[in-house]
Amino acid sequence: MSSILLGTHEVLNQSTPLAGHNVYGTDRALRDALMFHAPQADEAQRIELGAQVGDLAMQTHARLANVHKPVLHTHDRFGRRSDTVEFHPSYHALLGAAVGAGLHATPWSLGPGAHIERAAGFLMFTQLEPSALCPVSMTYAVAPALRGNAAVFADWFDKLASTRYDPNLRFVDEKPGVTMGMGMTEKQGGSDVRANTTRAEYIEDTAWGRCYRLVGHKWFFSAPMSDAFLVLAQTPSGLSCFFLPRVLPDGSLNAIAIQRLKDKLGNHANASSEVEFNGALAWLVGEEGRGIAQILEMGTLTRLDCALGSAGLMRGATALALHHASQRRAFGKLLAEQPLMKNVLADLALESEAATALALRLARAVDRQDDPFEALMRRVLTPVAKFWVCKRGAALAQEAMECLGGNGYVEAHGEGVMARIYREMPLNSIWEGAGNIMALDLLRAVKKRGGQGGDGVGALTAELDAARGANPQLDRFAAALLARLDAADDDAGMEAGARRLAQDVALAAQASLLCRHAPDFVFDAFCRSRLGGDGPQVFGTLPGAVDTDAIIRRAMPA
Ligand SMILES: Cc1cc2nc3c(=O)[nH]c(=O)nc-3n(C[C@H](O)[C@H](O)[C@H](O)COP(=O)(O)OP(=O)(O)OC[C@H]3O[C@@H](n4cnc5c(N)ncnc54)[C@H](O)[C@@H]3O)c2cc1C
Repeated sequence: MSSILLGTHEVLNQSTPLAGHNVYGTDRALRDALMFHAPQADEAQRIELGAQVGDLAMQTHARLANVHKPVLHTHDRFGRRSDTVEFHPSYHALLGAAVGAGLHATPWSLGPGAHIERAAGFLMFTQLEPSALCPVSMTYAVAPALRGNAAVFADWFDKLASTRYDPNLRFVDEKPGVTMGMGMTEKQGGSDVRANTTRAEYIEDTAWGRCYRLVGHKWFFSAPMSDAFLVLAQTPSGLSCFFLPRVLPDGSLNAIAIQRLKDKLGNHANASSEVEFNGALAWLVGEEGRGIAQILEMGTLTRLDCALGSAGLMRGATALALHHASQRRAFGKLLAEQPLMKNVLADLALESEAATALALRLARAVDRQDDPFEALMRRVLTPVAKFWVCKRGAALAQEAMECLGGNGYVEAHGEGVMARIYREMPLNSIWEGAGNIMALDLLRAVKKRGGQGGDGVGALTAELDAARGANPQLDRFAAALLARLDAADDDAGMEAGARRLAQDVALAAQASLLCRHAPDFVFDAFCRSRLGGDGPQVFGTLPGAVDTDAIIRRAMPA
């Protein structure tokens, strides 16, 4: 163990930073899940990205981008409105790297398997820095919804899929690559967007179709330096979806006034703003009055990224805890050798692996766009994965932080990565549909029975059947769950119990995936600790029969 001689004492028994490791190569859970979902894929790109996101120089960018928060300039020094946000160069370096790796809209221009690869990349990159991924995620998610305006799609898609990042505020024609954001939430309602008051008034037909003038506001408007946004506004036919560029075809700035940046708990590198539209020009996407369905095409995909992002942060936090515990001694032994700490670490590793499994399963469902079975799985697993992985992420971060003792709680000017992860975790749970909204969405997904291509419950039954007979606890759990889902149509009390239902669907799906692509000791431990009794407990309560050593060895980031 290294020691540095200082004036008064030697620094002993402190762990080293976790850096310079390959985030892909050291993540057995991710590699095994990818081997299951994409067995033929070439690993070269993943290995390259894994090295890049574990690199110390990139970690320094992540620290600097969080310490030097974005600054809003509403006006220039002559008093003219400028509405620009200034970022630290490290933010641009991070965003450039993520776009360069094709984590935004690039998969929509590629063939089968591209969304799974991109999911793996997103899960790894988020361990480096999650907040720069906010515009990346929105740009990924926007592409299918943007097809609702063919002319805009034709002019913008190639730039959305381009791997060249250009932070300059210019019209799309003059840029090698662009990013997009979304604006739904207003002061009087976020989950209930029907309460939106922003109005859209039709002006004329143009090369991009029906053009409107928007008057109103958005209370949350992240990544306001994006090149364009999908937003919701009211028309005489109801809530409608609009394409709102920041720079207009004549090169002038659109009337989007950035009023203030949010002072957030975490997510510090990313700017989230409050904006007002004072006659901003926007183009209709889809049909008037069908705005919620149109923008939800985008929302569904950002929900995938919430699950991927939280799964990535869970892996990051678990790796930090394991790394620390393998270097820190207490009471004469390494922490990682103490029986109770082994129980905690193995439990964290199990949860992290299960989160990776569920998030990647959802990515596979997104990848198989034309497969009716996968479409049903996508419908069921989107709210489930968003709900459960994000909820468990926040709990896991707290426990992983505690493994580092007091050091875990310390920011040290951005060096404390664990503290940054802890502050970030709740965000994925809140935005794009908070926990209750996800649980209620699951109810809608399972209540639609017997459509032409089958239904969500039927698809889930088939999915769980793949692991039937492998473990009696899972068999009992799955049978009881499917019986409850069958009764979902009739039971008025389902709404109050929707969270428990989402939790149980998640646990069953995770167990069935671990059966298929994790070692037996992981699958067995998951079933023993999550499927019996009253569900998951506080971390570190694995029963005695669990092979904690094997689980820890598998998860160790070395
Ligand atoms: C950092 C950050 C960035 C964001 N960026 C964006 C952005 O770029 N664009 C954008 O449009 N929005 C953005 N949001 C907003 C976010 O999506 C909303 O905050 C979120 O959807 C919740 O809406 P709300 O804040 O209005 O809360 P509410 O809708 O008031 O919900 C409050 C609580 O009530 C619960 N609830 C609501 N309805 C029900 C019900 N029927 N039954 C039971 N419980 C219910 C919710 O689950 C939640 O827990 C961002 C938020 C954050 C924190």
